[in-house]
Amino acid sequence: MAVPARRTSKTAKRKRRTHFKLALPGMITCPNCSESKLAHHVCKSCGYYKGKEVTSK
Ligand SMILES: [Zn+2]
Repeated sequence: MAVPARRTSKTAKRKRRTHFKLALPGMITCPNCSESKLAHHVCKSCGYYKGKEVTSK
């Protein structure tokens, strides 16, 4: 198995990790009330999912 010739410097490690970031969860706008909501989730502000109200108030 190949072995690294030298240890990765702190700078090289940190530069590599600048591209390693948490992705934002899939945010979409609600088709019913146009609030931003999580994709594939019931809308928190109007309680709609797939064009129907699914939560009781
Ligand atoms: Zn909504």
